[in-house]
Formats: sequence, structure tokens, C-alpha cells
Amino acid sequence: MKKFLVFTVILLSVLTVFSQRFLPPVKDSYLTSSFGEYRDTGDKPHFHLGIDFSSFSRIGYPVNAAADGYVCKLWVNHKVYGNTIFIYHPDYDLISVYAHLNSFKGLMAEIANSVVSEFGNTFAEIKFPDDEIRVSKGEEIGYSGKSGEAEVPHVHFEIREVKKSGNNEIEIVRDALEFVDYVEMRPRKLQAFEIRSNNRTYKLLDDQVTEVPFTTLPKLEVKVSEKVGDNTTIIPRKISLRVNDELVYEIEFDAIREDEMYSPNAIYGYGSNLFTYWIKLYSSSFITPIKVNRWNEIAFTLKDKNPAELILEDIWGSIKVYKLILVKEM
Ligand SMILES: [Zn+2]
Repeated sequence: MKKFLVFTVILLSVLTVFSQRFLPPVKDSYLTSSFGEYRDTGDKPHFHLGIDFSSFSRIGYPVNAAADGYVCKLWVNHKVYGNTIFIYHPDYDLISVYAHLNSFKGLMAEIANSVVSEFGNTFAEIKFPDDEIRVSKGEEIGYSGKSGEAEVPHVHFEIREVKKSGNNEIEIVRDALEFVDYVEMRPRKLQAFEIRSNNRTYKLLDDQVTEVPFTTLPKLEVKVSEKVGDNTTIIPRKISLRVNDELVYEIEFDAIREDEMYSPNAIYGYGSNLFTYWIKLYSSSFITPIKVNRWNEIAFTLKDKNPAELILEDIWGSIKVYKLILVKEM
């Protein structure tokens, strides 16, 4: 009897873990971009608010619903997103997003086509009442493409949470890797290449302490990335700086509000592009990924030489530390 009980409990916990997971939008695919990356494509610089899955460079590859729900809206010809499906999932109170599609399936295709034939290739948003277009987990909903800012065909996938504040609704885009049932099998390498201070650039090397001069308050910028397999480069999930054993600055790409999409310059510095990420370790503005910013508090405690650590972390638990000494210049 006892054995049976244990077995049932284990089975139940396995079921709940599995049921909380969303399916990746493309079958047997792999990650090609991560949440929070800098993008200078589309209309103007912005954060990459989703994660990208390979469609094996194919147009017309099937795209599947991540979980049960209903289609709440479509975007047709969006400058960044292209043709996009939004699915609301009542069980989770979350929305999943599928972008850069070549085409939609079924009733969605019919409606989108009639909108395009009437209004042409301008941006259109089509909203649907609750429950009108139901989809089930794994169901084919559309086909991959490179509409919007996409340079090669792939599927851009997002998880959004709707928060109400008074009469307003604000969408918070979350790192979809927290929700999707995806295991990264390729080798990974977190890397910081260079650090900038006072308009000078210093190379960062493994197992080496790098001296970095500053004048009054350090305004450091680091060039970072994480290499996944041979061909994929993403942004580390978390970047932090400790000075004199205190956490001074921390960025974590866990969530970005929809209205923060066009504020990447609060985090990314000069020279950033689709493949290069210069992260500022200071900011005068506040946006969601900036978790800690204590420069003003610790400014007066800085000495002539300040041991510091630059810490990179990914979502799978890897960590990489670079040792620095911040040296005050007279
Ligand atoms: Zn994308």
C-alpha cells in the first residue's frame, strides 16, 4: 500500500512538472537567439523580446501551438514581427507569440488574406473574441517564414503576461526559456572579451586579473556573449559586477515590459549590433532587467585600488567570473 502511495505521488509530481511546460513551437528544433539581445534590425534599435527557434532555414515549416488556448489576435505585416499569432492560454493566464510567419493556417489564413486583399501590405491587427478560434497543444497553426525583420526564416517565440494597473493593461514579456520544454544539448561557453573605461578598451583573459582605470565614478562597458554549439551566439542571462566584495550592478534578462522594447540603450553601449553585445555596467534610467544599481551609494567608499569581479551566468546554471582591479586615476 505504502509503495503504491509513493508511486502515485511521484507520478503526480511528474505530471505537474510536465503540464507546466510549453511545447517549443517547432518540432525537434534548436535555439538560435535568446531573450533580451540587442537588435538594430526592423524599424529602430530594440530588445529582442523572444527566443528564436530554427526552422532549418525553411519557409513553410510547420509551427505548433505551445499549449491549449485560443487565438486572441494576429498581426499582419508588422515591421519587426511580420505575420504573428498571439494565443491566450487560460490555464496559465499567459499569451504565447509566434512571429515572422510566412502564412497562417485555416480560418486565420482566410481572415488575414481578406484583410490583405482589402488594405494591402500595411500593418494590421486583427482581434478575436474569446474562444472563437480554439487551438490545442501541438496543433499546427501556421508556417515559418522571414516576414518582418527576420533575415533568415526562423520562428520567433514569446511568452507574455498581462498585468492590469487601474484601467490600463501592460504586457510583460518574459524569458520564454523559463516556460518552454527545451533542453540545450550543445556545449556552451560564457565569454567576456573586452572592457571599456574612460574611452579605452582592455582585453579580458581567463585566469588573469585586468586593471581598469577610472576617474570619479566607473562607467564600465563589457563586450559579452555566450557561444552555444558552433553557430549560435546568445546574450548571457545575468551579468553582475561586484566591487570590494559588494554587489554594485546587476542585469538579468528575465522580463522586459512591452513599453521598454525600444529602450535598449539603457543597457547596451556604442558598437552593439545583432552579433555584438556591449553591456553598460551603469545606467541613469531604470528598466526591468536592471536589478541592482548602487554606484551612487558606494561612490564615496571607492579606494585607489578596488578588487572587482565581473560575473556572467546563463539560464542553465553555468557561471564565469573575470577578476578586475578598478584603479583610480588622478
Ligand atoms: Zn526573434
